[in-house]
Amino acid sequence: MSDNTSIEWADATWNPIRGCTKITSGCAHCYAETFAERFRGVPGHPYEQGFDLRLIPEKLSQPLLWREPKMIFVNSMSDLFHEDVPDEYIQKVARVMQLANWHTYQVLTKRSERLRDLLSTKLRAAAEEPHIWWGVSVENRSQGLPRVEHLRAAPARVRMLSIEPLLESLEPFSLAGIDWVICGGESGPGARPVQESWVLEVRDRCHDAKVPFFFKQWGGRQKSRNGRELAGRTYDEVPRRVVQAVMDRERLQAALAEVAAL
Ligand code: SF4
Repeated sequence: MSDNTSIEWADATWNPIRGCTKITSGCAHCYAETFAERFRGVPGHPYEQGFDLRLIPEKLSQPLLWREPKMIFVNSMSDLFHEDVPDEYIQKVARVMQLANWHTYQVLTKRSERLRDLLSTKLRAAAEEPHIWWGVSVENRSQGLPRVEHLRAAPARVRMLSIEPLLESLEPFSLAGIDWVICGGESGPGARPVQESWVLEVRDRCHDAKVPFFFKQWGGRQKSRNGRELAGRTYDEVPRRVVQAVMDRERLQAALAEVAAL
């Protein structure tokens, strides 16, 4: 799911898929598309094919090669559950996340029905891992809130919401079964403004439900000018991470061989 490169809530991105297609109003100013299309036709550039969706199997093993535990945003330049990504490839991505379990992964999608269906079946083992956080984007009531229901119906151990870009008041909705909420306004050219009252509603709902709340940004054309203070302070709450031991060299070689053979 698209984001810009200054990601306050993750310290690495991993893109075993590149490209996507728009499906909702939340996609209107997709940063990933703008970035990727800038390089369409540039020979040898990773985005030579612009924002056309394609699998990047040579990137599958990347998390295994990062020896320091990281908070990894998976597919910042795509959507893992896009309809053109085969189930088998999604299973490979999940297998790598299971093997490289000293990292924490954040997987966000707008294709929430497919997330629910696969986590209930082919991805059941990955769904239950405490170091893989599964989430959906929420931009408004009509398109975003049904995704929350799909996520809640999925057997995920950790569930997160990315309420960004927040485009209207979400009004009361349930946070039952949700472990983390990130919220923010839209940034970049043509950014649609967010109202403080909408953000405060989300913050207060998180507070009442005892769900960690992370306020990412107000956004706007130049987001650095508008900062990320809400009601006089920043909100950087994050769920407790389960950090597991880094794999030793011998097991790493076996894991790399397994991923190469997937
Ligand atoms: S789903 Fe995410 S990555 Fe895909 S077009 Fe929409 S905002 Fe961009």
